[in-house]
Amino acid sequence: MIPDRLIPGRLIPDRVREAAAALPAPAYVYDLPGLDAHAAAVRRALAGVELYYAVKANPDAELLRVLAGHVDGFEVSSGGEHAHVTGLFPAMPVALGGPGKTDAELRLPHHRVHVESPNELRRLRATGLPADVLLRINPDLPVEGAALTMSGPFGMDEAGVAECLPLFGGRLRLRGLHAHLASGLDAPQLLRLAAALLRTEHEEVNLGGGMAVPYAEPERRFDWTAYGAGLRALAGGRRLRIEPGRALTAYCGYYVTRVMDVKRVRGQAYAILLGGTHHLRTPVTKGHDQPFEVLPTGAGPGVTDEPVTLAGQLCTPKDVFARAVPASLRVGDTVVFAMAGAYAWNISHHDFLMHPKPAFRHLRS
Ligand SMILES: *Cc1c(COP(=O)(O)O)cnc(C)c1O
Repeated sequence: MIPDRLIPGRLIPDRVREAAAALPAPAYVYDLPGLDAHAAAVRRALAGVELYYAVKANPDAELLRVLAGHVDGFEVSSGGEHAHVTGLFPAMPVALGGPGKTDAELRLPHHRVHVESPNELRRLRATGLPADVLLRINPDLPVEGAALTMSGPFGMDEAGVAECLPLFGGRLRLRGLHAHLASGLDAPQLLRLAAALLRTEHEEVNLGGGMAVPYAEPERRFDWTAYGAGLRALAGGRRLRIEPGRALTAYCGYYVTRVMDVKRVRGQAYAILLGGTHHLRTPVTKGHDQPFEVLPTGAGPGVTDEPVTLAGQLCTPKDVFARAVPASLRVGDTVVFAMAGAYAWNISHHDFLMHPKPAFRHLRS
């Protein structure tokens, strides 16, 4: 049980609701106490398993400061993320991953480096620097029900791993395997994959991230308790590590906007909101309706309890947050989109149409 589980029917905590109603829109609100409680619960559930945060999900420094109190390290996927994280937390362990590392990136100090191919390992060896390597594997395992599978170019197959093994020695140390196979998996699915992966002899295995965040069911959370218990049962003396991104930070972020217009086009109700998917691209990339709550701050014309499509200010039909979702709203109301803390602002095309950027508000209590 995650203690910060929401009260059914209440998508937004009171402190976020109060801040949102008073803020100029558009704005991002980050609920730092909510993140702290969630990360603490995840940490407790994973006792005995190392927890890294995959920084690409959201590199916001204030979020990282909260997470640094609960995680064992950070997974970074570029020189930029490496500089950002080591600048903030010089003493925190860093795992350096990502396909297509440059020679400069391969020279960066790390706790672990996740090597993607035999040629990358040769270039790493040529630096002459000490390196603690996990080989990223791309095994031929069935991944059912995933939102995204990381097959294709990522990691290497058995032949690639075999090509790497003779290259180790001296300051180039093989520590174990890394596998990040899919995203959007629940605990039983991830445990089945872990059981197949842990047939290996390697004493250290990083099982990656990819824990499901069901946007259509905001109250259904990934079962960290079952996952932690399952991993402990599979560990068999090995050093296990995971590196979630989305499932750690998705829930602490909110995109706050205001209704500018409500209209009906050929019978269908539309609400036009300040801002758009250039600030919150998640519903477009994932193809879902972003969950939201309407705060009655407006007094303008509106619709009551009927299917409404929520669109933004961009001149493209793709600028839609949610399609034909039952709602009551009027011009001037505040719309708070939940589950906007991961792969949200940082993956969006901010400069398209040159509208103003949102404000950022970090709630501390
Ligand atoms: C993106 C990524 C993660 C985090 O994935 P989530 O789905 O956000 O949990 C972890 N490891 C690697 C290698 C990744 O590329």
